[in-house]
Amino acid sequence: MKLSPSFSLAEMLNNQTAVRHGITEQFNPPEDVVDSLKALCKKVLQPLRDSLGKPITVSSGYRCPRLNTLVGGSPTSDHMFGRAADLNFYDNGKEDNLRIAKEVMKLGLPFKQMILEGGTLDSPRWIHIAYDPSGKDNRQEILFADFSVRPKAYKPLKYKDGKFSLKKK
Ligand SMILES: [Zn+2]
Repeated sequence: MKLSPSFSLAEMLNNQTAVRHGITEQFNPPEDVVDSLKALCKKVLQPLRDSLGKPITVSSGYRCPRLNTLVGGSPTSDHMFGRAADLNFYDNGKEDNLRIAKEVMKLGLPFKQMILEGGTLDSPRWIHIAYDPSGKDNRQEILFADFSVRPKAYKPLKYKDGKFSLKKK
C-alpha cells in the first residue's frame, strides 16, 4: 500500500527488532496511525524526496508501544502515533544526513520537531522528523541530540544562512 508516490506503508512499519522479537502488532497498526503516517508522507517526506531527487532511507517510522519500550524510545514518542520518522540520505553512496535537515528548512516544510541525532552538527547520524497531522502543534522546533554526554542532551538549534547552530541561552 502506497502512502504517497515514493513511500509505502510497509517501509514505515518495517523493523527488524520487531521481527526478531515476534512483535506482530507492529505490522497491524490502528487506522489512525496509518492516517498519520500518510499525512507525514504527503506533507513532509514526499516534498522532501521530490526536492532531493533521490531516495530517502527510512530507518524507523511507526513503533508500536511494545517495540518503542524495547528500543528505549521516549514514553511519549511521536513514533508510537505514526507521527515521526528517522531518516538517512545517501548521495552517490556518501552519507549526507544534514542535507535532509537543510532541505526541510529550504522548502519551509511544516514540522513539530526535527532532531539532528548524534554525531555532530555537520554530520548527524540520522534525522528525526515529527509532524502533527492536526496541524495544531507544528511548532518548527529544531534540536541537536548530543550523544557525547550521558544521559544524552537535547540542545535547541537555530537555522540561519543555511547553517544550524546552537541557540545561545
Ligand atoms: Zn526518531
